[in-house]
Amino acid sequence: SDLRTLLLDRIEDVPDYPKPGVVFKDITPLLADSGAFTALVDALAELAVRHGATKVAGLEARGFILAAPVAVKAGLGFVPVRKEGKLPGVCLAQSYELEYGNAVIEVKQDSFGAGDRVLVVDDVLATGGTAEASLALIRRTGAEVAGLAVLLELGFLGGRARLEESLGGASLDVL
Ligand code: IMP
Repeated sequence: SDLRTLLLDRIEDVPDYPKPGVVFKDITPLLADSGAFTALVDALAELAVRHGATKVAGLEARGFILAAPVAVKAGLGFVPVRKEGKLPGVCLAQSYELEYGNAVIEVKQDSFGAGDRVLVVDDVLATGGTAEASLALIRRTGAEVAGLAVLLELGFLGGRARLEESLGGASLDVL
């Protein structure tokens, strides 16, 4: 579609970043282009409304950049899902495996109310580990996951297949 072309034209492949052999998808040229960034935010906000979301959650750190304006545009509140130790107050934590070692993400326990439906937003779906942990974490607060929306999917890493079970009835949208 025209939207996809507009967005994908402004994502740059950076070879050997952050380490040799990895091709990093750099979204900063897209963010720097007002037309492309606006189109991206509008498309994600439309998804939030279509899926009946009542909150938009962003995954640290690039997910924040997208989820916050999406929440504003959709008229919804924004909730940060952060790396361990960054949020004050009572948090729930979820650990997940990385290629080397472990990572922990957290959300404030009182982030959502009864009946909240959450659209989870991130920039890139790679192995699906981060998204899988986020969905589990958000559900543990008592909220329902309305969907996961990402700008890009690295299909060769199999994230979609990995997420099938944890998505359940929630949608997966890739722009
Ligand atoms: P996963 O947990 O393997 O799916 O990795 C997804 C997380 O890593 C997301 O939060 C992304 O922001 C980040 N990520 C992985 N690969 C890339 C990339 O090529 N560009 C930007 N972010 C990436």
